[in-house]
Amino acid sequence: MGKRKSRTSKSMATPRKPPKLDTEFTCPFCGHSDAVWCHIDRKDRIAKAACRICSENYFTSAHALTEAVDVYSEWIDACELANQGVRRCRPCLVKA
Ligand SMILES: [Zn+2]
Repeated sequence: MGKRKSRTSKSMATPRKPPKLDTEFTCPFCGHSDAVWCHIDRKDRIAKAACRICSENYFTSAHALTEAVDVYSEWIDACELANQGVRRCRPCLVKA
């Protein structure tokens, strides 16, 4: 006579704020505002950002918490790194 403890899973009605995350951004290449859209494929762990004006695009890896803004900021970082790479030639690694 095992009385099962019936656990009533009370689903607390968490006040869910409608996510007001930006999904459109200013393009780092052509400068058009709201021209960049992001697509996140969490299943394949791929995120893409692309500009619909100049068709520049950027791919990166995504994870469960990746948001469009993360993809975009990664793109911006990559652009800055690329710019630095062009301006500053890294000294060749000295062989020991
Ligand atoms: Zn653009």
